Amino acid sequence: MTTELSHWINGQHVKGGSGRFADVFNPATGEVQAKVPLASKDELDAAVAKAAEAQPAWAATNPQRRARVMMEFVRLLNRDMDKLAEALSKEHGKTFVDAKGDVQRGLEVVEFCIGAPHLLKGEYTDGAGPGIDMYSMRQALGVVAGITPFNFPAMIPMWKFAPAISCGNAFILKPSERDPSVPLMLAELMQEAGLPDGILQVVNGDKESVDAILDNETIQAVGFVGSTPIAAYIYERGCANGKRVQCFGGAKNHMIVMPDADMDQAADALVGAGYGAAGERCMAISVAVPVGDETADRLIEKLVPRVEKLKVGPWSDEAADYGPVVTAAARENITRLVQTGIDAGAELVVDGRGMAAPQGYEDGFWVGPHLFDRVTPDMDIYRKEIFGPVLSTVRAASYEEALGLAMDHEYGNGTAIFTRDGDAARDFASRINIGMVGINVPIPVPLAYHTFGGWKKSGFGDLNQHGPDSFRFYTRTKTVTARWPSGIKEGAAFNFKAMD
Ligand code: NAD
Repeated sequence: MTTELSHWINGQHVKGGSGRFADVFNPATGEVQAKVPLASKDELDAAVAKAAEAQPAWAATNPQRRARVMMEFVRLLNRDMDKLAEALSKEHGKTFVDAKGDVQRGLEVVEFCIGAPHLLKGEYTDGAGPGIDMYSMRQALGVVAGITPFNFPAMIPMWKFAPAISCGNAFILKPSERDPSVPLMLAELMQEAGLPDGILQVVNGDKESVDAILDNETIQAVGFVGSTPIAAYIYERGCANGKRVQCFGGAKNHMIVMPDADMDQAADALVGAGYGAAGERCMAISVAVPVGDETADRLIEKLVPRVEKLKVGPWSDEAADYGPVVTAAARENITRLVQTGIDAGAELVVDGRGMAAPQGYEDGFWVGPHLFDRVTPDMDIYRKEIFGPVLSTVRAASYEEALGLAMDHEYGNGTAIFTRDGDAARDFASRINIGMVGINVPIPVPLAYHTFGGWKKSGFGDLNQHGPDSFRFYTRTKTVTARWPSGIKEGAAFNFKAMD
């Protein structure tokens, strides 16, 4: 049976009013399991107007009380972890363990936000001049919005709304239309945790509601995560409309394997980082760069049996390494790109095309694991983000060539180097023009109290996600210079004074 999903406005589920819907699939069975309403501009604007009414009282609530809502939210997330993970897996397709990880990495940012009273403290200079004190405070922006991708439907919404709301803003969340159920569940839990109605509005939709966000004059800031073309579009239109905008885009993450690396460790890392979540992670490793032909031969020899052994299955199969991809269209895009690689002369050393679907799930969106060797930088499989279980190997003759490959690629989200040589690792971390770097760590996702963000075409705008940067992004600084002289009777000064 197909469920009709809703929006979440002013603390209640609200049916879609536009008459437009998108199908939400169960990627493991290929069935449409729900319909999600696609909001009109008017519906979006109405949700924003209500948020704007609720926001001043929330901003005036002391930060410790706001933090207590986050504290309770953490408890509720832990209470409902399995329920959230199951709903997530059923719409996204990732394994149950991976879905729990999705919730967990969002939860950790909520934990960080419990420190809001400390993080929002301003600066103070006592006696900046005679009888003069200077202080700065961080104030909420008002109503802000987040537009999020399908691949982390719990984590990324929480990365956005938890800091924004902790700072005293109201938040409009426009989740991915592919897997909208978990964001709605999170909003219900925020209400149960004590959040006043109107502070977190979930407006489901597509381009129409995104454009309405970008053009709405009340919305002060927009945070986006998704593919690069949409990130660039949102950045340009949001900035042109005078908003504060940060957009995080696609990726093509390289892992350099030096000749001295522990080859078993490197191969294990590549298999987890390349094929986990069916390669649908912005921090997935999609390019392996062994340095030297001998290293490449040793690496491929270690990789092939590991990749061939990977087991694909539905979320309920505990032995599955990864699940289906999110839609039939995603599968077609991956299959098409694989064919371009074969046509361009790359060597397909593990061919996942013939993989049989798990029994009973013949109509699911399955893609077998693929491993390419001898990929070159002019090929589409190297230049484009595939976002599937496809790992490309580009052989580099030297460390400098390997470094140059990663540096010249248009994306700059994450990268890694595997080596036993501290000097090579140090040089790599220092020179690379990529936002997140792993040293013998394949997926270097920073923890909640650091910040997450890519460079080049993987990140547009200023400031990263979560960590201290998120508190800067969702607040603005006001600096006050106060003079309480003992005698104003001394008279007014008309010159622009330096502090004595
Ligand atoms: P997407 O760009 O298709 O969609 C992201 C959001 O934009 C969704 O909410 C969607 O409704 C909206 N959108 C889609 N088309 C639009 C349009 N034409 N106009 C306005 N809005 C539009 O991305 P996706 O497929 O959901 O997610 C996968 C992508 O996200 C990958 O490229 C991945 O690398 C990237 N990603 C990046 C990060 C990061 O932090 N850099 C993290 C996760 C995912």
